[in-house]
Amino acid sequence: MALIVQKYGGTSVGSPDRIKNLARRVARFKALGHQIVVVVSAMSGETNRLINLAKEIMPEPDPRELDVMVATGEQVTIGLTAMALMELGLKAKSYTGSQVRIVTDNAHTKARILRIDEDRIRADLDAGNVVVVAGFQGVDENGNITTLGRGGSDTTGVALAAALKADECQIYTDVDGVYTTDPRVVPEARRLKSITFEEMLELASQGSKVLQIRSVEFAGKYKVKLRVLSSFEEDGEGTLITFEDPENKDSNMEQPIISGIAFNRDEAKIMVLGVPDKPGIAYQILGPVADAKIDVDMIIQNMGADGTTDFTFTVHKNDMTKALGILNQVQAHIGAREIRGDDKIAKVSIVGVGMRSHVGIASQMFRTLAEEGINIQMISTSEIKIAVVIDEKYMELAVRVLHKAFELEEA
Ligand code: ASP
Ligand code: MG
Repeated sequence: MALIVQKYGGTSVGSPDRIKNLARRVARFKALGHQIVVVVSAMSGETNRLINLAKEIMPEPDPRELDVMVATGEQVTIGLTAMALMELGLKAKSYTGSQVRIVTDNAHTKARILRIDEDRIRADLDAGNVVVVAGFQGVDENGNITTLGRGGSDTTGVALAAALKADECQIYTDVDGVYTTDPRVVPEARRLKSITFEEMLELASQGSKVLQIRSVEFAGKYKVKLRVLSSFEEDGEGTLITFEDPENKDSNMEQPIISGIAFNRDEAKIMVLGVPDKPGIAYQILGPVADAKIDVDMIIQNMGADGTTDFTFTVHKNDMTKALGILNQVQAHIGAREIRGDDKIAKVSIVGVGMRSHVGIASQMFRTLAEEGINIQMISTSEIKIAVVIDEKYMELAVRVLHKAFELEEA
C-alpha cells in the first residue's frame, strides 16, 4: 500500500466526462489498496475567465480581492471531483486550501506555502476516504485567501506530498511526460523516461512549461518523488524526476550528455552603450532596475577598450518599456552614450547533467548554430546548462538543429 498524491491539471477536469474519467483512474488506484489524495486545478480556461472578469470591474485588480474570486475555480472542481468519486461508490471528501489549512505568506497572487496542517487529511485517509484538495490556493495567518501564482496547483500537489511524506506525487497533464523539447516545434522530440531534478529545474526556469518551477524547487527541497503523466492514457509510465546519486559514477556515465532543449520568447534585451568602465557601474545601472522590482536574467559586460564599456542584460518582455524609462532617467548620471531595447529575441538553452563530464559541448552548440548562420547575441552558462540569446525569427530553426546535433531523437 502506498500513499499517492495525484494532481490533475485544467484539461483533465475540463468537462464532466473528463472528471468522470479522472474518478475512474483514482478508483483503479484505490482498488490496488493505495491511499489517494487528489489535487485539482480549475477547469481549463476558467482561471483566465475569472481574471478577465475582474479586469472588467477593476483594470488593475486589487490582489486580495482577485485571490478571493480566482480561487473559486478550484472550489468548483473539488466538489465535482468528490461527487464523481462518490458516484463510483468511493468515499470522498473535498477541501479548499483554507479548510485544509495550507498556510501561506500574504503575498497575494504569488503566495508561498509556509506549512500544511495535514492531520485532518490523514484522518480522512485512514477512514478510507479519497481526499480531494483545491490546488493553487491557501490562506494566510490572518485568514485571507491567497493564491500561489499561475500553474500553482503543481506546487500544491508537491507540497502536500512532502507534508504527507507520500510515496509518489503524480502530475497528470495533457502531455504524457517531459520531452526532449516541445514536440510542436520538433516532431521527433522524445519523451524522457527519467530526468534529474536539477535538469528539470533548469528546463522549467529556461522556459519549459510542463511544471511550475516552484513545484520543482519544492520537490528538490523535500526529495519528493515526482512523476509527470498523461491523463488521457490508461497506463503510460510518464517521466520520473530523479535525484542524482553523486556516489554512483556508473549511472552518471549512462546519462545522455544533453537531456533537453528549452526555449522562450518572453525576454527582451536592454543595451546600455558607452558607459565609463569604472567600479560601481553595474550597480548604478541595475540598482534602479532592481528597485523597480524588475527581474533581470542574463547579464553581460564587455571588456572596456577606450575607457568605456557596453552593458547588456535581459528582462521579461512586459518589463522592457518600464526598464528603458528608468534607465533613460539615469542615463546622464551614469554617463551612457546610448540606451536601446530589443524585444525581438529568443533564448534557447541546452540542459544536461552529462555536460559535467564532457568537454566541447559549448563549441558543438556554437558550431551547430554557426552552420545555420544564426548569430549568437548573448551566452550564459551553468554547470549543466548553456543558454544563448538569438534573433527571435531563428528560434525554431535553432531548436531543431540542436535537437538533431545532440541526437536527442534517438533513445
Ligand atoms: N488554475 C490555476 C491556473 O490556471 C492554477 C493551475 O492550474 O495550476 O494558473
Ligand atoms: Mg499547469
